Amino acid sequence: MIDIKYAGICHSDIHTARNEWGGGTKYPCVPGHEIAGIVAAVGSEVSGHRVGDRVGVGCMVDSCGECEPCRAGEQQYCQRGATMTYNTPVGEAVQPGGHTLGGYSTQVVVTDNFVVTIPEGIGLDAAAPLLCAGVTLFSPLRHWGAGPGKRVAIIGMGGLGHVGVKIAAALGAEVTVLSQSLSKQDDGKLFGAQHYYATADKQTFKDLRGHFDLIINTVSANLPLDDYLRLLRVDGTLVLLGLPEKPLSVQTFNLANGRRSLAGSMIGGIPQTQEMLNFCAEHGIGAEIEVISADQIDQAYDRVVASDVRYRFVIDTATM
Ligand code: NAP
Ligand code: ZN
Repeated sequence: MIDIKYAGICHSDIHTARNEWGGGTKYPCVPGHEIAGIVAAVGSEVSGHRVGDRVGVGCMVDSCGECEPCRAGEQQYCQRGATMTYNTPVGEAVQPGGHTLGGYSTQVVVTDNFVVTIPEGIGLDAAAPLLCAGVTLFSPLRHWGAGPGKRVAIIGMGGLGHVGVKIAAALGAEVTVLSQSLSKQDDGKLFGAQHYYATADKQTFKDLRGHFDLIINTVSANLPLDDYLRLLRVDGTLVLLGLPEKPLSVQTFNLANGRRSLAGSMIGGIPQTQEMLNFCAEHGIGAEIEVISADQIDQAYDRVVASDVRYRFVIDTATM
């Protein structure tokens, strides 16, 4: 049992609360999968966490534990479907209402294997967004080898994107931000980006043609993928993280030409979440946050949708 101190607001919370993903939201819905808090109690068989520990919970609270991805520590790809922190059916016996309820709350009970340790050195408030945004960027950056000598672009400098810039820079990659405008350019450079371009400027797509090894798209809306595929070098990969409501289309010519790949990636497994937190602590990385009270959530949602967030809203649960 965890006393929740802070809960980050992910754009996925908004997609879910507003029922934007094919009508799958179960109400009453309690969003929140960027949870940071303190262990309040443990069951008799729990050995990895003690009362008083600083801990986090991300997007998942359980999985089958037996399938190939689960055994590989990639519970997010559980073949029977991981139990997500909110909006997953679990039956009345487990949770009154029949589905999981998330972190916009003061306490949560989670299977010990799905609880990670927040290292000393990262504040619980700045750590909360790492539980989703952090690992969602860390995982593909590691998988596709972001590091020295690699040119990496991050599309969209919001909650996910700004953490991605910090992590990619700490991994040693040459980082470029592709944002709608140049309004956040100074911040981008502070976070570690060497280059910053506005996608509203058509010249950007001419200047950067064939330039990147890896492009990570964090945008929550539909983008013209062909424009971005053309920015990849031979064998480059465009990874989609943003989960817009409507399907995207692609000219296959832009994949064939340059043997390019179009890929996706979903959060990260529990071991990698711990690895990411340790990496962030070692490199002094936390999310840039604006702490709000519970009665400001509706306003915060509108500001996230309007790209008016610098760079993650975090709810102080003491205000609930
Ligand atoms: P966010 O804070 O709203 O950031 C998204 C950024 O995309 C904005 O800050 C903005 O950046 C850019 N953007 C927004 N609307 C745009 C438009 N119409 N055209 C071009 N750019 C636009 O959201 P987030 O919390 O980072 O989440 C981003 C997306 O990732 C959401 O769809 C969310 O559901 C999804 N997500 C996926 C995973 C996964 O595992 N794959 C995990 C978490 C979240 P600029 O102002 O810099 O242009
Ligand atoms: Zn999220």
